Amino acid sequence: MKAVICPFCGVAGEVSHQTQQACIDALQAEIARTRRILESVTEPLPAASIGEDPDPQVT
Ligand SMILES: [Zn+2]
Repeated sequence: MKAVICPFCGVAGEVSHQTQQACIDALQAEIARTRRILESVTEPLPAASIGEDPDPQVT
């Protein structure tokens, strides 16, 4: 699959966009795609526990 980076909006696509509307559509699609990726990979970040780690007793 050949990808072209649109010089106007920077979104990779099959072709560079010929109209502003095409760029807007591509950007919105890119945002939606990125959101789905972020939602699927979201992991709870470890809380900053410097100096207050409960340190459970492991036996
Ligand atoms: Zn574009």
